[in-house]
Amino acid sequence: MDRPTIDQARAALKRVFGFDEFRGRQAEVVGRVLAGQSTLAVMPTGAGKSLTYQLPAVVLQGTCVVVSPLIALMHDQLRSARANGIRAATLTSVDTDWRETLDAFRAGALDLLYVAPERASQPGFRALLGEASLSLFAIDEAHCVSEWGHDFRPDYRQLRPLMDAFPAVPRLALTATADRQTRADVMAQLGIPEDGLVLAGFDRPNIRYAIRPRDNAARQIAQLMAEQPGPGIVYAPTRAKTETLAGQLAAMTGRPVLPYHAGLEPEIRAANQAAFVASEDMVVVATVAFGMGIDKPDVRFVAHAGVPKSIEGYYQETGRAGRDGDPSQAVMLWAAGDFATARQRLSEVPEDRRAGERARLDALAALVETAECRRAVLLRHFGEDPPAECGNCDNCLDKPGVIDATELARKLLSAVYRTGQSFGMGHIVKVLTGSGDGRVRQRGHDRLSVFGIVAGEEASLLQPLARALQARGVLVSTEHGGLALGGTARAILTGRETVEIVTPPKRSGTRASRNAANPVDDPLFEALRALRRDLAEEAGVPPYVIFHDSTLRAMAEARPGSLSQLGALPGVGAKKLEAYGERFLREIAST
Ligand code: ADP
Ligand code: ZN
Repeated sequence: MDRPTIDQARAALKRVFGFDEFRGRQAEVVGRVLAGQSTLAVMPTGAGKSLTYQLPAVVLQGTCVVVSPLIALMHDQLRSARANGIRAATLTSVDTDWRETLDAFRAGALDLLYVAPERASQPGFRALLGEASLSLFAIDEAHCVSEWGHDFRPDYRQLRPLMDAFPAVPRLALTATADRQTRADVMAQLGIPEDGLVLAGFDRPNIRYAIRPRDNAARQIAQLMAEQPGPGIVYAPTRAKTETLAGQLAAMTGRPVLPYHAGLEPEIRAANQAAFVASEDMVVVATVAFGMGIDKPDVRFVAHAGVPKSIEGYYQETGRAGRDGDPSQAVMLWAAGDFATARQRLSEVPEDRRAGERARLDALAALVETAECRRAVLLRHFGEDPPAECGNCDNCLDKPGVIDATELARKLLSAVYRTGQSFGMGHIVKVLTGSGDGRVRQRGHDRLSVFGIVAGEEASLLQPLARALQARGVLVSTEHGGLALGGTARAILTGRETVEIVTPPKRSGTRASRNAANPVDDPLFEALRALRRDLAEEAGVPPYVIFHDSTLRAMAEARPGSLSQLGALPGVGAKKLEAYGERFLREIAST
């Protein structure tokens, strides 16, 4: 049998998916698969990993067996694949059409068959695969095979013997998250040769990063929502916070806002998730549990109402924004207390893991506090060598100031020390600025040498400085909410270490509105969106399965007058042209 060429694949890319070009490293991965070479593709979220097996599945003889760990994800993929006219099916516990699926599979009438890893360990499954013709094994979320990964699933270990029984069938493992160690392990566990790695960069250029001090989370996120009319995810630290914040945001913005956390009834959780997936403007306020099984491409912003656990966590959570490649925002709101709490918890961490956890927090604090490009700091953390400025983060767009605050830091640390390391910042500020407050006099703190030594402009820097010192662990919280010296405080007091802090730019949070890609008040675009909503409802799928926003924008811009003109637009494959073409042409002609 002749192998299809990359040019034939390119033709199918246009015909089936409506795309003119491969993105990033897709062509390389598809090329390897078509040549029968087993491959591990490590690509960030939104890079288009599914296409690298779906496209070969279409052009190759036989069925591509896709192993995927979550039923929700499988059904998401199934919907999108079928909308493009790809012959796809799932074999899961909730499917009722097993007989049809098995018949189609045996008859060679399926391009894609999605199964959970548990299926692979059942002896009958190997026999079943032997009855059909196979084109490819695709292993999604392949890091699950490794104990080094954050998400080990023992059933993934059964895949190797299964695949070994079909040595002529190439393997394509896919993941967005794999450090060097995990990567090597995944390849060894799945039998992928060492030269089979395709590693794309971690950058998500369409995500605009911003990290700001938190003064009022509800107000700040409501402002973000005013700039971003599309769907969003807000991460909150506790279940209780998700509930209150969701209530506040709904009241302040009038938009649909739902909470999501592990304590909700399963039915409510499922309903909230389904509502979010189908919505074009909903915001979900969630604990980190949310997002795992969600493949919604049009999430326009991810906000953190408190600091995430680590840079890795931050990257993964913010990565749920903008899978469709459209401009999206990631906004983190932080307070000194977040770090104080996290550093306090370090004492509960087992001895052998404590240093690692502390290093994680320090790395996160460095990202939060930097005056440099956020993206550069983030990518360097993942071992890349990015340009110094990205032009699409808060620090690149509004350069913050950096000042030497060593003198002021010494005054602050002295005041903390001389008052006995048991008072909160409010009291310390009163002492330093020479407030005649009763409590200050009662304690005799007006007679300390540090009383009233900070005045004017300098006083306004005390809070940002304290915030920075807490993030760095130089000031730590005591059990009773006071501040004590920690970390390198001594070195600063004795002049062996200097302290630089970032001063936020005066105007912040006003730039985002220029970030949005969709036109505002364009009647044709709005009409196309309304039509898409109707069609989505008729078909019982989320609107993005019909067409992405970028395709609607192209329609509104190009105003195609014929099916062939419409079919030339990005995202319009043959199947969708046939299914929806006439309706969209009519809408365009009449608006
Ligand atoms: P991943 O699984 O890597 O997170 P997906 O497979 O969900 O990414 O793809 C992300 C989005 O990118 C999808 O909406 C998909 O339609 C789109 N996409 C994939 N490949 C291309 C391409 N070559 N050109 C344009 N859009 C693409
Ligand atoms: Zn930048």
